[in-house]
Order: sequence, then C-alpha cells, then structure tokens
Amino acid sequence: MSEALASHALIIVGAGHAGGRAALTLREEGYAGRLILIGDEPHLPYERPPLSKGVLQGTADLAGCSLCDSVRLAELGIEHIAGNPVTHLDPQHHRLQLNDGQWLPYAGLLLATGGRARRLPQEQAHVLYLRTHDEALALRSALQPGTRLVVVGGGFIGLEVAATARGLGCEVTVLEAGPRLAGRVLPPVISQALLELHRQHGVDVRLNVTLESIQADAVLLADGQRLPCDRVVVGIGMQPNVELATAAGLDVGQGIRVDAQLRTSAPDIYAAGDVCEFRLGGLYQRQETWRNAEAQGRHAALSLLGREAPFEALPGFWSDQYDWGLQTVGVITPLTVSRTLPDGGLLLFYLDADRHLQGACGWARGNSVAKDIKLCERLISARLPLDIASLANPELSLKQLLRG
Ligand SMILES: Cc1cc2nc3c(=O)[nH]c(=O)nc-3n(C[C@H](O)[C@H](O)[C@H](O)COP(=O)(O)OP(=O)(O)OC[C@H]3O[C@@H](n4cnc5c(N)ncnc54)[C@H](O)[C@@H]3O)c2cc1C
Repeated sequence: MSEALASHALIIVGAGHAGGRAALTLREEGYAGRLILIGDEPHLPYERPPLSKGVLQGTADLAGCSLCDSVRLAELGIEHIAGNPVTHLDPQHHRLQLNDGQWLPYAGLLLATGGRARRLPQEQAHVLYLRTHDEALALRSALQPGTRLVVVGGGFIGLEVAATARGLGCEVTVLEAGPRLAGRVLPPVISQALLELHRQHGVDVRLNVTLESIQADAVLLADGQRLPCDRVVVGIGMQPNVELATAAGLDVGQGIRVDAQLRTSAPDIYAAGDVCEFRLGGLYQRQETWRNAEAQGRHAALSLLGREAPFEALPGFWSDQYDWGLQTVGVITPLTVSRTLPDGGLLLFYLDADRHLQGACGWARGNSVAKDIKLCERLISARLPLDIASLANPELSLKQLLRG
C-alpha cells in the first residue's frame, strides 16, 4: 500500500459470503483502519446453502444464515453500505463509484461479487429462480401442497428444490438435458443414487430432455410432450458478476482472473468466491461452493494485509437432499476405490499413481458422511500410500488407515 493511499479504506465489493468473511477476518487479524463492505442486496452478509433447504422449508430464516448481526458489524467498525451497488471501478485512480453517485477512494480492494442465476431469455411471472434470500422467499410462498412444479435443470439447486418441494407436498417433475443428474460434478454411480432417491420420493425425473417453451400453464418439450404445471423453477447454473471487472480492464476469463495470492491483474485489487477464477491443478477454474467462499474470503483478507502466502485450500462441497447427505473433498482422479457403507451409502476414494489419496466423495443417510470426509481430508494431507483392499473394506475404519 503506497503512503499516499494509506489513509484510504480497504473496500470490499459484494457483501455475500466471501465478502463478509473477508471483512470479519480483516478485523480478527488486527486491521484497524477504515473498512467498507458494499452490497447491492438490502441484507447483512449471509450464507446461501440454507436457501434451498431450511429457508425454503420454513425452518430457517435470514438471521440464522447471516455471518454476523448489525450490532457486531458496528462493534467491529465495519461500514456496511447495503442496497447500493458499485457501478464503476477506476483502477488507475484507485477509486470506485456507487449507484448513488458518490466516489470512494480505496487503498486496497476485494471483488467478491459472486454471481446471479442464469435466466431464460423470456421473463414470466410463474417462472422462478433461486440465488438470493428474496428469491427464496418468493419461491417458498409459491410452493403450496398440491402445486405442480416443474424444475428445469438436474443440478444441485434444482435437485435440492425438488426434494424440499416434495417435503412441502408439491407434485414435482425434474427436467435434465444431460444423460444423468449433476453430471458435470458427480461420478455416474452417485448420479444414479440421486436418480433412484428422487424417484423413490415420487419425483418424475426425466433425463435427456430438451425444453421447447414455457407456457402459462404448461411446459412443452421438444418431443411434443406437454407437462401441465403451476410453477417452474429454473436451475441452469449461475453467471458470475464480472461486468465491473471487465469494464475496468481487469483480466477476466470465465471469472475474474487471479494469481496465487488471489490478486487480479491490478496489483491492489483481489477477488474471491464464486466470481474468482484461479489456478487449480494448473487449470484456471471457478468454484461455486460454500467452502471456497469461506477459504478465499479469509485468504484474500490476508493478502490485502500483505501476507504473501499462496492460496492452497482443498476444494469441496456438500448437498442435502431428503434425509441423505453428499459431501466431497479434493479432486477426482481416474484411480477410484469404492467402499459400500452399512446404510447403503457409498464412499469413493480418488488416488494418484502412488496410491496417495487426492479426493473423496461420500453419500450416506443423514450427516454421517461428514465425519468420513473429514478423515479423508486428513488422509489427503498425510500423503500416505494406501492399500486398495483396506480402503474398500468397510470393517476397517479410516482412523486405522490414518495410523498407517
Ligand atoms: C440456493 C443455493 C444453495 C447452495 N447450497 C450449497 C451447498 O449446499 N453447498 C455448497 O458448498 N455450496 C452451496 N451453494 C453455493 C454457495 O452458497 C456459494 O458458492 C457462495 O454463496 C458464494 O459466495 P460469494 O460471496 O462468492 O457470492 P455471493 O454469496 O453470491 O455474494 C456476492 C454478493 O455480491 C453482490 N454484488 C454483486 N455485484 C455487486 C456490485 N456491483 N456491487 C455491490 N454488490 C454486488 C451480490 O448481489 C451478492 O450479494 C449454494 C448456493 C445457492 C444459491
């Protein structure tokens, strides 16, 4: 940070999970200067996973998802500007402009602008999306017992909405364009388990289907079928909010490109969370997960404070559907060992050529898989060569494997 700029604030654009976590970390790490957190939503920073689960079920509320309350933000001296998006970024003069016209100079900046739900070209009142808390509330009021719901997209958001909607007594159809559910991120055996689970719960899941059009009271498929419905939820992925960075001339690929310290192509601007495109295993990619938002939010805060460590956190995510839980950690490799769990669940281990664990994926009833995935994380760090037969053997605990 140059001396001329030292009196200016550290500013975070995007008061979501990564941005909120970065602000809290800056204070935990002793940063005592001016700190401004700017969001376009009217809410305190919150975590999104409950939106498709507890918030939609009506068992969780916004306060329960928030990273902290307004009293704590004030105590920490974090200036939260809500409902006032940043509209212009001027890296050359180290300043940005808010929607209300005011300019703010910064000494260091974090872009944590996340993304928005990818939308169909035509807006229709009965077609809903799910990215924000307000969208979750709109969807919740639409899901009444007996509502005929068509979910477009068999990815995580679509499937979690389908599971919750069944719990609320809706009739649910899921339309997936690909040959399997969540096929972009899950191995075929878990996609199949998900398919069976949803069908057992009475969801009409259709694979390899092409949407032709959405009418006021039905969805039309390319093969001529007409599916009568009351509501449609579209879960076809998210679009990273890169426009600010692109217009400012920063390096942008599928997201805002950063180096190992999460620094963008402008030296005093960092990026974190869903919008951040970073190198993992040599390839640029974005991660759209809670774990990444949490880890990168923290790491970007440290980078803003001049700590020069590279970002090396393991990727991972979870999903809850009905009374089953899915959790992954690390990366998928071709060498896979499978362990069947007593409740019919599965643990998949991904190994490199030296039989070191690189990743794992667990699928089990309730939250039981979380413990196994934690142990897998420790096995990944331990870099022990593992015995394939022992990994496949459910009688042998992962703790025993850790002890070597
Ligand atoms: C319904 C749902 C369920 C999920 N479930 C899971 C799960 O079970 N497991 C899991 O691992 N992950 C899950 N995720 C993913 C996880 O929530 C995201 O990866 C995480 O929220 C990303 O955090 P972020 O801070 O990068 O982005 P966000 O949380 O999206 O925050 C970005 C914020 O920046 C704001 N913003 C954008 N542009 C501007 C601007 N110009 N000015 C000011 N503010 C701006 C946005 O409006 C938003 O408030 C889920 C996501 C959703 C939507």
